[in-house]
This record gives sequence, structure tokens and C-alpha cells, in this order.
Amino acid sequence: MSSRKIATIRRPYRDDPPPRRDLLDRRAFLTTTSINATRDCHNRCGFCYLSTDGLRIPYQCRDVDQVVSEVAADGQPYFVFTDNNLGSRPDYLRALCRGLRPLKKIWSAAVTLDVTDNPSLVREMALAGCTGVFVGFESLTDENITAARKKSPRAAEYARRVGVFHDHGVQVNGSFVLGFDHDRPDCFERLVDWIEGVRMESATYHVLTPYPGKPLFRQMEAEGRILHRDWERYNTAHVVFRPKHMTVEQLAAGYEYCYDRTFGHRCVWSRRPRDWRAVPAYLAMAYLYKKSNRLWPWLIRRRLTHWAWRPLLEASRLRHLRFRRRLGCTVADGSPVRAPVYAGV
Ligand code: SF4
Repeated sequence: MSSRKIATIRRPYRDDPPPRRDLLDRRAFLTTTSINATRDCHNRCGFCYLSTDGLRIPYQCRDVDQVVSEVAADGQPYFVFTDNNLGSRPDYLRALCRGLRPLKKIWSAAVTLDVTDNPSLVREMALAGCTGVFVGFESLTDENITAARKKSPRAAEYARRVGVFHDHGVQVNGSFVLGFDHDRPDCFERLVDWIEGVRMESATYHVLTPYPGKPLFRQMEAEGRILHRDWERYNTAHVVFRPKHMTVEQLAAGYEYCYDRTFGHRCVWSRRPRDWRAVPAYLAMAYLYKKSNRLWPWLIRRRLTHWAWRPLLEASRLRHLRFRRRLGCTVADGSPVRAPVYAGV
């Protein structure tokens, strides 16, 4: 490289050069198009790294044209937005979706649940190729959400809002934090029952982790609840603090229970889509995603990821294009399309 670029979070995001994706060995990747359109988030959840003391990230959006041309240039059928929250500015997300729609690709992104405030925005996402969202629900207990300072719909609203995504053929990967101060030992079973009941396609669990430099750490330290400073285990898979209404062992076992049950065959099957035509794609995704952990390193080492995934991605994209055509024929009043076909990515 002839010149050196130094990116900072202060200068306009649009001035950052695109990554040299052409240097990557495509055979080892599911997709080489991982891309950010925005930076920062309108929330400041107490457990998120964005609430770290002194961290000031100015909210920025890249120009829609710039994002669209970068995605088009990489030539992949599927891409993933790695933004903290692609839905912080609904007007920007709508414009971005309109820009992406002609590309006829499929994609996924992390968004907050409030993008379902207006189902027409979810419709725009689906029409632009969105097949899956990662959503931080965090907890089914409103007091936990309030304590975490997250601006989010009430838990009683969650199921209806998951339905808004499903009505538009968008799969939901819910993210949940375990061990909040209002969690009790029965919260784990209740949570997985709920996930099963709303037929959420996938879920990710995290043990609440108070990182240094965040309000949560200060609070727990003041209360004498920090167990140790072995930073290796501050990874959201280990309990590093004393929970309020359960033992350390109960929280650790609850975390294991949530994963074991959610990705057990019975629970995977009971969460299958109601439309039988969507079931094969759902099962392919469910079994390739969390139940094939040993397969992935093998595929990556042998540079076979692209070979294994490309046909599935292409089939998903073609199926989604058919779905989009049907969705585009409906009025934009939030009415669901009958029998949505999930893309399976
Ligand atoms: S909504 Fe997500 S990205 Fe935004 S502050 Fe909360 S945890 Fe962080």
C-alpha cells in the first residue's frame, strides 16, 4: 500500500476508504460483504460497551449511494450489516432500504425492536432483501429493561412485534441477558417457554457482565458483588458477579439450560414456521447455525465455506425474490402477506 490511512471516530464516516475485500480468500467466507452503514446507537444500555465512561461516538450515517455501491461491487448474494443498531434512525433506514432494493440481494442486520413501531418500515426492509434481524430483547421483565436504561417497548409487546417481523418473512435472532437484578431462578424456563411460544428462529444468551469503566461495574463494586478480576472470564459466558436473587451456580446452570434447551431437537422442531413451505429452509438454518459448531472450523480451514454455503445462499436469494414480488403486490398498510417464505439465512 502506498499510503497509510488513519480512521478516527471523529471525522466524517463517508471519508473512510472501503476495506480491501479483494485481498480476502473468498473460499473461506460465508460472505465477504460485512459492512457498516451507521456508527453508534440511540440507546446507552448500562451493560453495553457504548456506555463506557468517556466514550463519545458521534452518531453518523454513511451516504446511501456509498453503501449501495460498496455492496454491489463485492458481488456477493448475501451480506451482513455489522452496525450496532441499523435502526437508530428510521428515516435513514428507509432511505437505505430503497437504495438497496434494486440490488436483489439478501441481508441481515442488528436492529432495536422499535423498528416495528411502524410495520411499513419492516416491509421496506423485507422488500430490500432483509431476511433476518438480530434484536436485543435483553429480558422479559420490564424492571430489568428500565434498570439497564434501555429505551424499548414493554415486554408485553414483544410477541406482537416478533409477529411483525414474521409477517414480513424476516427471521428473528433474539439476544437475551441473564442475571439481571430482577431475575429469579424460574426466569430461564419462562424465557425459553416464551421463545418457543413465539417461534423465534434463534436466540443468543449472555450472562450479565459488568465491564470496568461502566456504570454497572461501579454499582456492583460498591455493593461488593464483583467476584474476581480475571478478565479472561469477563466474556458473557461466565458468572463474574454475585446475582441478587439466585446463586452463582444457579445463574451458570441457567445459562447452560437456555442454550441446551433452545437448540435441542424438540425445541428446534416446535419453533418451526407455521407455513410448511418455510420449514425446510428453517431447519437447514437451525442445524447449520448452532448445531454444527464442529463443522465450521473444518470448512474454514479447508477453504470450503463458500463451496458449502453458496448454493444455499443462492437458493435463499431466489426464493426471497419470489417472496418480495408477492409482498410488493400488497398494500403498505402492514397487512401480512399470506404464507411468508423465510429465506433460511
Ligand atoms: S441498543 Fe444495543 S447497541 Fe444500542 S446501546 Fe443498547 S446494547 Fe448497545
